[in-house]
Order: sequence, then C-alpha cells, then structure tokens
Amino acid sequence: MEERPQSDLGLGVQQNPPRPATLKRINMRRFLEEIRTRGPSTRAELTRATGVAPPTSSSTIADLLETGWLEQSDDDRATAKGRPGKVFRLASSSTAMVLGVRIDIDECVIAPSGLDGIPRDAEAKRFPTPKDYDGLLQAIFRHADAYLKPGKGRCLGLGLAVPGLVDEGSGRVAMSPNLHFLDGQPLCTDLQRRLEIEVVCTQEEHALCLAEQRLGRAKELSDYAVVDVSSGMGMGVVSGGSYIHGRRGFAGEIGHVTAEPNGQLCGCGNRGCMETVATDTALLNAVCARVGQRLSFEEMTNRIARGNLDIAPELDRTLDYVAIALSSVTNLFNPEAIFLHGRLLDLAPDTMDRLRVKTRARALGPSFEGVQLHRAQGNKLYGALAGLLDQVFAAVGPRLT
Ligand SMILES: [Zn+2]
Repeated sequence: MEERPQSDLGLGVQQNPPRPATLKRINMRRFLEEIRTRGPSTRAELTRATGVAPPTSSSTIADLLETGWLEQSDDDRATAKGRPGKVFRLASSSTAMVLGVRIDIDECVIAPSGLDGIPRDAEAKRFPTPKDYDGLLQAIFRHADAYLKPGKGRCLGLGLAVPGLVDEGSGRVAMSPNLHFLDGQPLCTDLQRRLEIEVVCTQEEHALCLAEQRLGRAKELSDYAVVDVSSGMGMGVVSGGSYIHGRRGFAGEIGHVTAEPNGQLCGCGNRGCMETVATDTALLNAVCARVGQRLSFEEMTNRIARGNLDIAPELDRTLDYVAIALSSVTNLFNPEAIFLHGRLLDLAPDTMDRLRVKTRARALGPSFEGVQLHRAQGNKLYGALAGLLDQVFAAVGPRLT
C-alpha cells in the first residue's frame, strides 16, 4: 500500500498504515512530543532523549522538516563534542499555526500561536462576548478568518476554552450556567463547518489543568486540582495521573455545590451555589451592593489602588468560602497540590497565606498535611491551545506506550 502524501502537514493520515509507515509516524510523534516538552533541541539531544539510532533520528527530523512540523532555528548550539549543532524547533506561525479562543462571560479573546502552543499576546484580539449564539459564531469566524489570510502560516486548527458542561467527545455544550445561549449548542461542529479547520472544544477547567501540566508546577505531579475562582467557579482534578472526566465529562463542578441553602440565585437556577459566594464575580457583587454603584473589576481594583475603597470585609468573607471549597477538595481528593486561578488573589499581598490558614482550619488534618496551595501559572487560552495540539499531534502518529 502506498503511503499517503503528507503535504497536509500530517493531518488526515491513515489510521492503519503498514508497519514501516506506522513506525515512521511513531517516531515523528515522539520527536514532536519531545521538542514540545523540552523546547528547541539539537539532533544529538533528540537522539539521546528518544533512544533511537542516529540514522533514524536524522531521517525523522528530515521528515518533520519536509512536512512542515519542524523548522531549523537560526541559532546553533554547542554539542557535547564542542561542534556547533543545528537547533530544531516546532514550526512557528510563518509555517504552521494554530488559533486559541477563550470564551468568558464578558469578554472573549482569540490569539494565534506556533506549534509550541504559546499564544502570541501582541497579535491577540479581544472582543465583548456577544449576546447570542449566532453572534458568537460570527465573531469567532470573523476574527479567526483574519488570521487565515494567504501569506500567513497554514492553520492546523482552532482550540476553544469553553465555560460550562462540555461534552468533549462531540464538542456540544450541554449547559453553560453563565452563558445560557450556549446550552445544547454544537459549538465545535458549527465552527468546524464554517472555518473548515480542526476545532477542539475543551472545558475551561480542563484547559487550566492542561496549561498547568505544560507550564507550571504540576508538570511532575500525579494528584492535583486546579480550582478556578474567577468569573465562575469550577475545578479540574487529576488523580493518579488521569484527569477525572466523569461519565459525560461533567465532573468537577464544585461551583454549583450549595454553600448557602437560601442564598443568591445562581446562573444554574439553584440558590446559594458556591460560585455565588467564592469568586471574583461574587466579591465584586458584594462590594457593589455595599457602595451602591455598578463597578467593573478593573474599576474596583483602581479604586483600591488609589486608596478610595476598602474591601477588607468582603474579601475576608469571600476567602472564607474559597477555603470551604478548598477544604472540600482536600477531603474528597487528597491532592498533593491545589492551584488557584482568579484575580481576587491579587487584591491583598497575603491572600494565599490567609487561604492556607483558613483551609487548614476546615480540612481534615491528615488530608491537608503536605498539601501545597499555589497560584496557577497557566491560563485558559494556553490550555485551549494545549487541548487542540494534543489532538493535532495525535493525528501525526500513535504514541509509543
Ligand atoms: Zn449554580
């Protein structure tokens, strides 16, 4: 059987090619994953890291250069033998690119990236979240289309970080408590049809976990949770090295666990959910209610910085509820670390220390022992790109197990 030409940068490759082709693609995938993890590398470094024979290493790199997955960097690097070695990196956006989109309650952002998955912030576009589903599709299509012009690198796909319950298999949004126009919508399919590129929807907390795995202290951990306390509240849990999806991918919705039986109405329709009392939004709402003015989070932050606003009571109460959530996560999952994502953590220099004290007071002692609380280093946009690239790289070839 003839091998299918790879002018399409490896996408759409055959699923069951003959053995030599399979081996070739396994090696291509290994080299790509190795460079994705370690960054730009020389041939000698890749040969050593993957354990393949030098001729195989050379042919694999040649294949990856020819098909556009890799580029040769302008810089050489001294090898162990003292000779300058060529450095290879994942394709930058001039050759091949991907797009990442973060959908949030008030604002969306779209940014291009090379195959290293690092969003290019200088080229990112931000736009207010449209009020309906068609408006969102049109806005994403319009902004994405601007990156797909001739002369730019070939776009291999678009990854989205989506709030709510996302069926990651089909890309359908089952329910989005703070953006109800997404409920039941086949977001992935609709965008794929319009853009004619690969589209991958990742639930936003899953995106945060992927980002933390790639960028942050979670790289070496097998038991950890990422808790998002920003506009809404959600959680991603990695247990024994595996992300906990639940039956349909809806696990981790700690934001809709009841914290106050007769509390405020939540976007999900219930009352007193944790996200109504333990998020950036909850804190802002509490401060606005006291001062009698509708402020944005930035306006609140600016007033605090100028000394015109004291939010100490509201911040302390919000941290109490965040600690209740964190102690629940500690008791339920016994993680090594919990990573927190949210702007309220920046509102006082000691928020993380206070959260440690408050969480320790509520969690079971042995469960909390040794648990590290960290600020998350990744973000949802980076995680959206990571989710897409996982699928794009998987199309190159099977992973060696
Ligand atoms: Zn709720």
